[in-house]
Amino acid sequence: MRFISTRAPGGAGTAGAAETIRQGLAPDGGLYVPETFPRLPEEWIFAEMPYAQRAARVLSLFFSELGELEPVTREAYARFDDPACPAPLVREPEGWHTLELFHGPTRAFKDMALQVLPDLMLRACEAEGKVCILTATSGDTGKAALEGFAGRGGTFVIVFYPKDGTSSIQERQMTTQQGDNVGVCAVEGNFDDAQTGVKRLFSDKAFREAVARRGYSLSAANSINIGRLAPQIAYYVHAYAEMVRLGEVKPGGEVNFCVPTGNFGNILAGLYARKMGLPVKRLICASNRNRVLTDVLTTGRYSLEREFYLTHSPSMDILVSSNFERAIHLMGGSDGSLTRSLMENLNHDRSFVLPESVISTFREYFSAYTCDDTETLNEIQESYNASGRLFDPHTAVARKCLRDHQNKTGDAAPAIVLATADPFKFPEAMLRALGKEASPGADSLRALSEATGHPISEQLRRVMELPVRFDRTVKPDAMGAAALGFLKD
Ligand SMILES: *Cc1c(COP(=O)(O)O)cnc(C)c1O
Repeated sequence: MRFISTRAPGGAGTAGAAETIRQGLAPDGGLYVPETFPRLPEEWIFAEMPYAQRAARVLSLFFSELGELEPVTREAYARFDDPACPAPLVREPEGWHTLELFHGPTRAFKDMALQVLPDLMLRACEAEGKVCILTATSGDTGKAALEGFAGRGGTFVIVFYPKDGTSSIQERQMTTQQGDNVGVCAVEGNFDDAQTGVKRLFSDKAFREAVARRGYSLSAANSINIGRLAPQIAYYVHAYAEMVRLGEVKPGGEVNFCVPTGNFGNILAGLYARKMGLPVKRLICASNRNRVLTDVLTTGRYSLEREFYLTHSPSMDILVSSNFERAIHLMGGSDGSLTRSLMENLNHDRSFVLPESVISTFREYFSAYTCDDTETLNEIQESYNASGRLFDPHTAVARKCLRDHQNKTGDAAPAIVLATADPFKFPEAMLRALGKEASPGADSLRALSEATGHPISEQLRRVMELPVRFDRTVKPDAMGAAALGFLKD
């Protein structure tokens, strides 16, 4: 498979899988996308097979250049609660299904891809020397990248997170990370500031040279890296296969997916799955109060001239949603010039307006809804009271949005909500939703467990016992110096 930049005119210039994964971002500032979409063979969708095998087959459609991939996926998913089924599909009283994507080592869906990426990266970098993975996180990517790369020879991973933008547990998961090849640093500002800072470092020649002098080339573990997207496609195929196996849909029948969305990486994998032939009817994009995606998908206008809110679903507190660029490319910008000019508008004017034809294509695939903090807490409380089920605040946003979609449109297609985090990553918000007192940190984990009878996962329990190793906070313009400081140590 060859990959092209979203901004390349006429799709000029292609790169192979190894180069694409190694570089993260295309040299022209665009994102790499598949040159064409491979077709999913039907027997891969409908035949029963272990998760790791299906995932390896999906990956092979994109990354066959990197060799036999089943050993990679088998090892990655061996670290999940149930290696045979790392992503269980659960039937809910509403008749919906929940695809639980948080049973990996860091208890968020980011593990589904970030347990696979290190091996892909090492294969991609084989002849190229050491690689430094530079990552901005809204909370969950950072820990998942640290956990994936820690102790992997030939790599160094550096994570920047917004000082006040994550939950206390998310922060502690990162600042207690073990390993010699890791660095973690807080940034003053919000996630967009951290992400913009990292993007700036990628295009800063002096910084790249300083990294190279220390023996490293730069790469990214954010969802801008195509190596993150392909493993995510696999769980959409798996969810569909499970629906067929359970008799919830007939082979070929369509299903809806509702996805709590921030950087548009998760839901984009659903779009790619549909492009590859998976019978997906609609992708329902669920946002919190930072509703930039709801607005662009309903009105066509993307605008950053708005307030940034800190919400109970911090991993979705994002205004500059990077992967939306890939969606534009697919929905009508495929010669690159439209995508390029829209992204230039966003840079210069802080907004863009999609052409009418592109908006109408988007509407064929996507619906979009918003759920604010009050509604999020209500949703958590109501589902707990009704059935004892605990959903983290991000998943609660998606549940509320799916309900809105069904009420508004009468859409009765079988629906799957993607559950993206373990509720125990956000114990303060969960306790509040349940009307309980919340004090930060370990106490709130215990309190949530006592209030609900649900156990604390082994991984989160361990994090609370480890010492904090990283406690620095820098201004965005000092991120480069902080990164180089880690590499020198
Ligand atoms: C990252 C994350 C999201 C948003 O996913 P995107 O791929 O950035 O859209 C939603 N929920 C949780 C818990 C996350 O960690």
